[in-house]
Amino acid sequence: MYDTFEIQQRREKMEDCLFCKIAAGEIPSNKLYEDETLLAFYDIDPQAPVHFLVIPKQHISSAAALTEENAALLGHIYAVIAEQCRKLGVDEKGYRVITNVGEDGGQSVKHLHFHVLAGRSLAWPPG
Ligand code: 5GP
Repeated sequence: MYDTFEIQQRREKMEDCLFCKIAAGEIPSNKLYEDETLLAFYDIDPQAPVHFLVIPKQHISSAAALTEENAALLGHIYAVIAEQCRKLGVDEKGYRVITNVGEDGGQSVKHLHFHVLAGRSLAWPPG
């Protein structure tokens, strides 16, 4: 069976995707937590004393591509973030969860990811 053009394009996109490679263990990362649906790992260029990323293992290009079908996944992502922040001891003073979308949103990796920043007082509004 031949792939349709659309499936072929999607496969190529995933093969090129840095975070798909990190999720598959093809590129190493400093992992905090992993299960069958998601991975949490430290950002390579931390912007706060604690800065980790949470990604679904499934390739979703950004928050703009989410649908109602992803509701359980999102609930799970936020529960894992809360649990990891408790374990890291940053839950009491607080933290920030951000997902950048598209060019103006500052998204550089086109695979849905949530930044979790903590360990210092964070300015608002962001730049
Ligand atoms: P974005 O700019 O798309 O919101 O965030 C992408 C994030 O991924 C950036 O904070 C960047 O530092 C991080 N990043 C880029 N490449 C790598 C990598 O190879 N490993 C890790 N751990 N983080 C990365």
